[in-house]
Amino acid sequence: MKNLHSLVHSVAKAKYRHQPYKMTYAVTYQCNARCRICNIWKEYVQFPQKIAEELTLREINAIFSQFDLSWISLTGGEPFLRNDLLDVVTTIDDCSPRLTLLTVPTNGSLPETTLTTVESILEETHIPNVIITVSLDGDTLLHDRLRDVPGLWKKARTTYELLSAIENDRFSVLLEFTVSKHNAGHLDRAIKSFGADYSKVVITAAHSSYFYRTEPHSLHNSGSALQVGQFNTSCPKYDPQSILSLLYTKILEKYLMGTPISFRCVSGRSSFFLDPYGVLYPCITMDAPFGSLREDSVQDILGGEHASSIVHRIREGKCPGCWTPCEAYQTIVENLPQAVIAAYMK
Ligand code: SF4
Ligand code: SF4
Repeated sequence: MKNLHSLVHSVAKAKYRHQPYKMTYAVTYQCNARCRICNIWKEYVQFPQKIAEELTLREINAIFSQFDLSWISLTGGEPFLRNDLLDVVTTIDDCSPRLTLLTVPTNGSLPETTLTTVESILEETHIPNVIITVSLDGDTLLHDRLRDVPGLWKKARTTYELLSAIENDRFSVLLEFTVSKHNAGHLDRAIKSFGADYSKVVITAAHSSYFYRTEPHSLHNSGSALQVGQFNTSCPKYDPQSILSLLYTKILEKYLMGTPISFRCVSGRSSFFLDPYGVLYPCITMDAPFGSLREDSVQDILGGEHASSIVHRIREGKCPGCWTPCEAYQTIVENLPQAVIAAYMK
């Protein structure tokens, strides 16, 4: 991230005002991939009528106007399948004057649409940091097999190349490798297949959760931690702009080896997850909805006893626990000394 200082400044101000600063918002559950580690794509195969229930621009405006967010991660489904994604972003930007960082993941299946949408986002907003992550699970054969879409690797590579050619210091494109027992050990070959290097990669670990529509099951073996360890020794050693991802992956390696996270998660207070229908959750892992922002205001929902009891459960560590980047980065930001200790202590 090229403007990290502006994010840190913005987050510090939000903390001073005791306000949440981050939202992960699933703009749609439409998806054209069939990933082995995720069942979101089944949502509209089983319930096609639900697509009509996704939040409208007017509702998005009404919801986001009640926050004052600095950091927004859009997700899906495949976000670029939402035809009005540009309007979604400009609507959120219009009601988030402090917005400093926008991240959007993509499976890379829509190269031209993605390019024109990103170019328009950069033209029509002034968001200081816009980061797109293109998913990459392996080389050609492995990637297409794990996502069950022939030709997807090729499209993802085209998307990555088109986005890499954008010259704008507010914009970055990265590759996101989600490690699981299915692709552990294949990162190096995957990166080389894209002609990229480690400085362009973020690594995360597959998780089970209500969001991914997966039951808890074993997604990892010892290879996952070894893969993250190999990443940690291969990526550039010191870059102040990537300190968050460095700490995240150092701790991820230990987490995959069974070390619990020793500091308090900030989800449900500093950050939230919003589903495509306006239901607010603390995060993408804990299936504990606060309530519907279609029906009630943020103040009413978060000021009630139900929300307090969920936040209390998180404070007490009585949540499923996870270390996903959607949720972990803000916890690192707010627990920096503890995160450094957790990352580097033996
Ligand atoms: S991981 Fe992403 S691309 Fe794959 S099925 Fe789930 S939502 Fe779709
Ligand atoms: S640790 Fe994970 S499951 Fe628990 S509240 Fe935080 S983000 Fe949610």
